[in-house]
Formats: sequence, structure tokens, C-alpha cells
Amino acid sequence: MTNKKRDKKKGANICSRCGSRGAVFQRLGLNLCRRCFREVASEMGFKKYR
Ligand SMILES: [Zn+2]
Repeated sequence: MTNKKRDKKKGANICSRCGSRGAVFQRLGLNLCRRCFREVASEMGFKKYR
């Protein structure tokens, strides 16, 4: 059976910073996981997200 269905999915979200594909957000045109997004957001001045 096809167990590896999501092998190379087109919409696979991979963090462009650390390469992890967990909870990756596509915000500000960036693919960042929640961890990296926090760092980048704080760098950019987005203290809205925590
Ligand atoms: Zn990351």
C-alpha cells in the first residue's frame, strides 16, 4: 500500500531557517516554524506574537 503518501508534497511546509517541518507558518512571505518565527518576529519588531 502507499504508506508514504506525503513524501514530497507540494504544500509541505518546511522552515526556511532550521529546516524543520513541524508547525510552520507562512507569514510575511517566510516559511518559519513557530520557534524561528518567534526569533525572527522579535528581531523584526513583531512583539505581538509570543
Ligand atoms: Zn525553524
